[in-house]
Amino acid sequence: MKVHSGRSPPNPRMISVISRLLLKGDVTMKQIEEAVAYIRYSSHNQDDGNSVSAQIACIDKYCDDHGMEVEKHYIDTAKTGRNTSRPQYQQLLKDIADGTVQAKTVIVRAIDRLHRNAKNQLQDLDWFEKNGIRFIAVHDGIDTFGNTSKLLTTVRAAVAEDFSNTLSQNTRSAMLTLAKESRHLGGVPPIGYKVNAEGFYEIDELKAPIVREIFKLYLQDMGYDYIIKYLKKQGYKTNAGRDFTKSSLNGILKNPKYMGTYVYDKSAPKDSEGKRNSRKTKRDYIQIQEGMPAIISPADFQKVQERMTDNRMQYQHRAGKHYYPLNGKLHCAQCGKAFTGNVSKSKGRNYYSYKPTCHCRIKNINMKNLNEFTFSALQQCLFNSENANRILSVMNTKLSVQNAQHSEEVNALTNQINGLENAQNNLTGYLEAGRATQTILDKLEKNEAELAILKAQLAAKKQEASSVNQDTYNQLVKQSLPYMCNQKTSEAFALRDAMIERIDIDEDAVTIIFNEGVAADSSAIHCLNY
Ligand SMILES: [Zn+2]
Repeated sequence: MKVHSGRSPPNPRMISVISRLLLKGDVTMKQIEEAVAYIRYSSHNQDDGNSVSAQIACIDKYCDDHGMEVEKHYIDTAKTGRNTSRPQYQQLLKDIADGTVQAKTVIVRAIDRLHRNAKNQLQDLDWFEKNGIRFIAVHDGIDTFGNTSKLLTTVRAAVAEDFSNTLSQNTRSAMLTLAKESRHLGGVPPIGYKVNAEGFYEIDELKAPIVREIFKLYLQDMGYDYIIKYLKKQGYKTNAGRDFTKSSLNGILKNPKYMGTYVYDKSAPKDSEGKRNSRKTKRDYIQIQEGMPAIISPADFQKVQERMTDNRMQYQHRAGKHYYPLNGKLHCAQCGKAFTGNVSKSKGRNYYSYKPTCHCRIKNINMKNLNEFTFSALQQCLFNSENANRILSVMNTKLSVQNAQHSEEVNALTNQINGLENAQNNLTGYLEAGRATQTILDKLEKNEAELAILKAQLAAKKQEASSVNQDTYNQLVKQSLPYMCNQKTSEAFALRDAMIERIDIDEDAVTIIFNEGVAADSSAIHCLNY
């Protein structure tokens, strides 16, 4: 600030008198503040209480009560509600800007007189703030005293909310359109699928075998623990590069996309935390059968769903997890109902048995004894010398089919590895030329991780047995009894299912019914009848 020159400074005594008077409050300068009133009326809106005269009366009364004076009334009357042309409002802004009116205050009856929608209100308020205009909306109790910041914040929030609602509605309807065409809607596609350039699902033949394996094992009655171990041994990983977990398996087994049914959850609006509402009903889904390529047959998929329900119920029935290798095969000889594995505790010991589910008064049967009886019979019946060659040839035929699939997978893996290694070489070229961007570095790292996974899968694949000879066969025979009794593997279950149709349990006899086509020699029959 400049000190006045060429003029004598004001008398210091005078200054102190004035300030003392002001401090005592004896002197109040009654100042009339000039304001301009803005009135908008649209005949098509349900503007109850918003008639021009009602608006004027409201503003004038407010001015009387607050020592203000309306310098000028600006009145817009629009014929339609949608009409946004407001010539008088534009005039008001112009008059303030060029000083035609003295007023630095704008009064309206309610803020929605400026504009119906928050976004346009925001523009007005911004202009007021920039120009130091005090804004009063009588009905809303708003008075900015030239400081519109707080009001701006509020309106801004409203605009943001409105904007995001509109946006998410638009997004949702765009999503819906895409969904109706069975397109992928972002995120990582389920394992076994990839998304082509047009946004449709295609089977990823490199990973689809993992999905087939999971469904197959589950249908063979393998538990999650077994399946997880098996997948790990194969070097299989989830899309995120992690080991499979119970919940990832659960998600895969329940995903109808795998049987070719495209599903889209249109219950869509995410809540404030970005989570989707979990209480949604079937109605909220778009389901398009055969909307995408199937990896699993619908029949198998349904079987898996039924089995999952059964298993859940069984799981609720028994707390402990014990292995009962004959479960599902045992029946009451009198009524046909099942015998199922059961454990009872006595004097701190567990007693395992198969227990009837009917009331035919047949006693429990000791689990270990029945297992051994059954599998000895199976062993003698199956692995006799007459059968040996036939079994060997069947096993090798099966293995050669597996090997053919196997070598396809090995080829696919090898191709993928070669491709990635080429890409790595090219990217490393950039690195050496000093032209590596963060994107390239990220890509290098990602490729490296993927390569490690693929190489592990390839190594596991190469280790798998390729054929069975007489020695291996003899080993198998020797090990078959403990193996069948104790090993919960898909091979053991497959063998059991292939051989045994059912076992009927009566008060004084157990009858094993082998599947047709299983040859039994005299010693086996003798064994069965003992
Ligand atoms: Zn019965």
